[in-house]
Amino acid sequence: MAPYIPEGKLLEIKDAAPIAEVIGHYLTLTPRGRYLVGLCPFHSESNPSFTVYPERQIFHCYGCGAGGNVFSFLMQHLNLSFPEAVSELAQRYGIALHERDLGAAAVRQSRQKQSLYELNELAAAFFQDTLNHPVIGEPGRAYLSRRGLDPQVIAEYRLGYAPDEWRALEKHLSRRSAALNDALELGLIIAKTSGGYYDRFRGRLMFPIHDREGRIVAFGGRIIADGEPKYLNSPESPVYSKGRHLYGLYQAREYLRKAQLALLVEGYMDLLALRGNGINPVVASLGTALTRDQVRLLKGYCPRVVLVFDGDRAGLTAMMRSFPHFAAEHLPARVLTLPAGEDPDSYAAKFGVDLFRAPWDHSQPLFEFILDKIFADAPSGPEGKISALDQIRPYLSAITDPVERTLWLQPAARRLGVTEAALEKALGQTQTRSCPPLSSSHGVALNLERGLIKLILSHPDLLEDISLEDWLEDFEDTRLQEIARLMLACHRQHGCLDSSLLLLHATDAQVRNQICAFSLAQEEYAQDQRDHLIADFLRGLKKRRLKKEKHRLKEKLQDRRFPDTTQDILAFTARLTDIEQQLKDLETGRNL
Ligand SMILES: [Zn+2]
Repeated sequence: MAPYIPEGKLLEIKDAAPIAEVIGHYLTLTPRGRYLVGLCPFHSESNPSFTVYPERQIFHCYGCGAGGNVFSFLMQHLNLSFPEAVSELAQRYGIALHERDLGAAAVRQSRQKQSLYELNELAAAFFQDTLNHPVIGEPGRAYLSRRGLDPQVIAEYRLGYAPDEWRALEKHLSRRSAALNDALELGLIIAKTSGGYYDRFRGRLMFPIHDREGRIVAFGGRIIADGEPKYLNSPESPVYSKGRHLYGLYQAREYLRKAQLALLVEGYMDLLALRGNGINPVVASLGTALTRDQVRLLKGYCPRVVLVFDGDRAGLTAMMRSFPHFAAEHLPARVLTLPAGEDPDSYAAKFGVDLFRAPWDHSQPLFEFILDKIFADAPSGPEGKISALDQIRPYLSAITDPVERTLWLQPAARRLGVTEAALEKALGQTQTRSCPPLSSSHGVALNLERGLIKLILSHPDLLEDISLEDWLEDFEDTRLQEIARLMLACHRQHGCLDSSLLLLHATDAQVRNQICAFSLAQEEYAQDQRDHLIADFLRGLKKRRLKKEKHRLKEKLQDRRFPDTTQDILAFTARLTDIEQQLKDLETGRNL
């Protein structure tokens, strides 16, 4: 059960946080009449079925059935708990939230994260100040001027310098009475076995890593003198998990939207060099193979990605490994290959940046790039082709879109020198099916329950005429039963019924999805039509209950262990006759 947060507070936050704005922060939404559409972040799709309804303040995906309000969106999208989502929005929209509103545990959690962000901020400011210090910052500044980095870019990305000392940051934090165990948790300092701490980053150029909200979640540090490792990153912490962030996304987010694509480079310096040359829609992976989360993250901002490849072997493997994620997310990706020995920085210095101004046109599809690499490495002759086929297999299997798959089968088959049909057969039946249906259907019973709930949601006043409580236990679909229960509780508490109120109380994601779907399918019925429908539903519910009882009685009568005193049998038979009669009456429309 979610902690209790006063409903007035929730409504206040919900009203202050327009759903289109909140979701638009993470996804590209296109207005379409009275609603907005975009690519769903919760399932893979290439045509937008994710829909935001500003008037109702809800979202619903027609592809996977996800749905909810601003709170549930943040919960699902950012992996937050309910109180975390609530306090996130309260903070963003300037609504005061007190401990008594949120529950002590949730407040502690949210304060803890807040203090980690603040500590990172404190460290970033320290590194920045140090970089600008006339004496201590000299090595950092010298390095940057050697690399010819634009001062404006240095400021925008808040580059800094960690002095080559063991306790510079630790002392600074202590002077500010910062919590050193928080600094330890963030990996800014390291505990010595002999007691005390020392700085993790020493003699390094510092790159703060921001999350999508612009908060600093971690740091990357590049060594300036000789030493290992060349790049050192913050460890994972409660605010940082490296597979879920991209360097520079926060600063580039509007550029990605405008350019409708992202250039993905490998390193901090590559990114900053391009930014300094006026190439803006750039992000960098954080030194590892791209994760599905990162691809999904990008998909929220732009419909295409260009991977910039500077020819080293490590980068190649990482790039090839990212293919299944792009395929699964239906995000088209291409590869821009730089001449051997060049990285974006050196390339830009020698040849300028024209190549990066129209990167899509200068690049080749990621799958084709992979085919090239596989065939370039494969020995000639049949053995080579067989080994190439083995390598191609996982890539082709990763393409779930049948059209796209067929399109890629052609060049792959051509290169292998086999027919498409033969290749298809060799690949086997690996096609996966898309999302499972939202609800299992037990036919008529479900239609009855669903119909009733839908009708009441469209016409809440009907709740007065139906004693829904009496039928609650009969519900066969547990999700619909939960909605019915929420409806009753909501009506009892507020004297009214409204899907946005229901959503506030629904803790189960599937239940919320269903409520959204219902509230979008609301229909207006005329009074007499309504009466008719209600009569039908009630008749259906009664029939179902009687039939169940009949079934139970018959089973008992046939059960050998049943104590067959004549009296019992007579009583049961009498009840059966009674049930038969009632059923007949219901059939002919009497007895209602
Ligand atoms: Zn979806």
